[in-house]
Amino acid sequence: MSSLLECAIIGGGPAGLSAALVLGRARRRVALFDEGEPRNAVTREAHGFLTRDGIAPAELRRAAHEDIRKYGNVSVHRMKVAEVANERGLFRLRTEEGERFEAKKLIVATGLKERLPAIDGLRELYGRSLFSCPYCDGWELRDQPLVVIGEQEEKAYHLAKTASQWSRNLLLCTNGSAIAEGRKRALEANGIRWNESRIRVALGTDGILSRVIFEGGEEERRRGGFVVSEWFQGSAIAESLGCKMNGKGGIETDEFGRTSVEGVFAAGDASVISPAQLIVAAAEGSRAAMGVNGDLIHESFLPG
Ligand SMILES: Cc1cc2nc3c(=O)[nH]c(=O)nc-3n(C[C@H](O)[C@H](O)[C@H](O)COP(=O)(O)OP(=O)(O)OC[C@H]3O[C@@H](n4cnc5c(N)ncnc54)[C@H](O)[C@@H]3O)c2cc1C
Repeated sequence: MSSLLECAIIGGGPAGLSAALVLGRARRRVALFDEGEPRNAVTREAHGFLTRDGIAPAELRRAAHEDIRKYGNVSVHRMKVAEVANERGLFRLRTEEGERFEAKKLIVATGLKERLPAIDGLRELYGRSLFSCPYCDGWELRDQPLVVIGEQEEKAYHLAKTASQWSRNLLLCTNGSAIAEGRKRALEANGIRWNESRIRVALGTDGILSRVIFEGGEEERRRGGFVVSEWFQGSAIAESLGCKMNGKGGIETDEFGRTSVEGVFAAGDASVISPAQLIVAAAEGSRAAMGVNGDLIHESFLPG
């Protein structure tokens, strides 16, 4: 058993890493745990992070670890946290390897996992020519013939509407879901085509989409596009501790990342859900770290 940590950070994406940096600089005894399976692992380039536009996701993490290494009061553990017990405000962590740690505060930064529509070929193209977010990858696909695939009709419509800023050559495919008549009229008014048929396969070479083939045999030539996937929590830790969830499936927090459970904070995709962005997650981690540090100061600062 190691000595008592002031904060345990679970998750080593931009949210957790940023929290570790801020708490390291605040002279807190911190441990960061990361199993190393971020949601953007399928991509080769991350965009829109100021000063790091186009960087490989692994390189962004490497640079962040280099920053954190300067602070000897922060330890980093390449481990999955299997369980956290809350014993009257003291958090007892057990890793999958069976190591145990204790912490006064906890930051949950375990991100999201996603489930793509069950369409043949999609997984091989995801992260190469099919993406989830036009803000992240729209520039690289600008003015190309694109497809937007989504079975949740409302989300698919909104993704197509957003994607129209990057390409007007758009085909919305709902893979068997009906599109509301009002939305069809709006799509038509904006020059966006649609197809409600089930998709047999999305075909491409080396990850680059070339054709979408429908059950009836018809096909459309497309170069890339966007997919509505289902998002769910990257770990069950917050829920197992009794943290309230918000209407979007994220962990409910206040402006400093405090959850409904005393001493538990959350940051990044796990709480924000949308907009899911590296820079937003990093900002959230920074804010949660200030929340943790502020509460620790408040708890130990003597009244006059
Ligand atoms: C295909 C794709 C492309 C993207 N492109 C961009 C882009 O270009 N620009 C951009 O800004 N955003 C992009 N994003 C979004 C971006 O990746 C996320 O918003 C960001 O990674 C969220 O950071 P996070 O720290 O909250 O979570 P993550 O980066 O997902 O990190 C969470 C970490 O927690 C770990 N973890 C989970 N459970 C445990 C546990 N029990 N114990 C220990 N560790 C655990 C995971 O393994 C993971 O390493 C993209 C996403 C996808 C899917």
